[in-house]
Amino acid sequence: MSIPVNPPSGFRDFLPEACARREFAVRVISEVYRSFGFEPIATSAVEDLAVLTGKGGGENEKLIFKILKRGDKLEAARAANGELSDLGLRFDLTLPLSRFYAKHQSRLPHPFKAFHIGPVWRAERAQKGRYREFYQCDADIIGSESPLCEVEVISAILTAFERMGFADATVHLNDRALVYAALAQAGAPESQRGQACIALDKLDKTPRESVEAELLGLLGAEPVAALQKTLMADAAGAAADLSAYEAAGPQSYQRLAWIAKELAASGWTHVRVNPSLMRGLDYYTGPVFEFRHAKLSGSLGGGGRYDRLSEKFGGPAVPACGASIGFERLLLLLEESGAGAASAGPEFCVLVFDESLREKSLELARRLRAAGKTADLYPGTGKLKAQFKYADAKRAAHALIIGPDEAAAGLVKAKNLKTGEERLVKAEELVEKYPSQ
Ligand code: AMP
Repeated sequence: MSIPVNPPSGFRDFLPEACARREFAVRVISEVYRSFGFEPIATSAVEDLAVLTGKGGGENEKLIFKILKRGDKLEAARAANGELSDLGLRFDLTLPLSRFYAKHQSRLPHPFKAFHIGPVWRAERAQKGRYREFYQCDADIIGSESPLCEVEVISAILTAFERMGFADATVHLNDRALVYAALAQAGAPESQRGQACIALDKLDKTPRESVEAELLGLLGAEPVAALQKTLMADAAGAAADLSAYEAAGPQSYQRLAWIAKELAASGWTHVRVNPSLMRGLDYYTGPVFEFRHAKLSGSLGGGGRYDRLSEKFGGPAVPACGASIGFERLLLLLEESGAGAASAGPEFCVLVFDESLREKSLELARRLRAAGKTADLYPGTGKLKAQFKYADAKRAAHALIIGPDEAAAGLVKAKNLKTGEERLVKAEELVEKYPSQ
């Protein structure tokens, strides 16, 4: 049986062009995060299962790629019918950040603004835009309760989207505390509130009538009538009267309104309070937000405040607010817009006339690189036709050849691969400025 050449389902290879686009996006996002004062951190891909399970990961905990114990420990676990795994691949960057903070906080500024970019893994069913290995690009502020954190994190992400050509991304804001206050005020039984949130979360995707029917079954008529005025007020995206929602939790609402106002003052106009925005993870404790784009059915990223997460590691509760960019969906948008396409090829591609002249070619490439030029070197010898084809495929601006005549005269033949023009030049000319006119 032959070994498959395809990566496993949900995992992908990337050709150079796709890598260029991904690098472009990572570069822009990193630059923007840095410009807002976020500092880069990196954490290990593999975590102890105790870090990944138990609290906060919600549904994602079911999607952990677990790593088998090894050697004697595996044998012992098998014999005892015990837990066979002790490690797992991280499924997001937030739990690793919390562990990182618990370990290193004495060496970090306070509050700490971190950004974290890297792959995460989830054992879910692969489909378009949903993979088993995908990138996340998180920005977090740990150690501050101020709503300035929400403004900073959201502004940084909107700026990154804008730099990539998506100034029309929208941000939806809500507050978990406000949702629970509205449910309590409506008289929703406590035991049903979690389910009610799941139903309300569907308002953006499914017809309002079916959500209402589900809520009626869960809560009964009176609470649903009250929720029409609060949590369901803005479901259609119309400018709604949110005064009843505000009355359910004035303090939380005013904080949200302040965040929206300050984002608007920073020039971000596509911001709105959306009472039906829930966000999936259990660990959010206050404001939540989600980025959307008209061309995408799902979100372009999201986040919120998760003040209690670091308690898991034994320390005191530390306030934290962060967001994650849905990198793979962003890449779908970039692919469509053409932004971030592979950059130009090298300035020069040095060809190798034959074995007797390969040292001259190598020397020329060395000299060009030392002078700060980008210079590819054909890694072999062979027919010049094939070498020119290689230089074209690499999108080089000029092909350089040192044949016997050029070597004897101390010159280089330079061919402009766009115009086809050929010139005999001295190596110095190439180093200084080429073409010189
Ligand atoms: P979550 O950690 O589930 O809140 O997801 C954060 C972001 O990661 C979401 O906004 C999605 O865009 C993105 N995301 C989640 N799951 C996947 C997946 N399987 N493949 C690609 N992107 C994903």
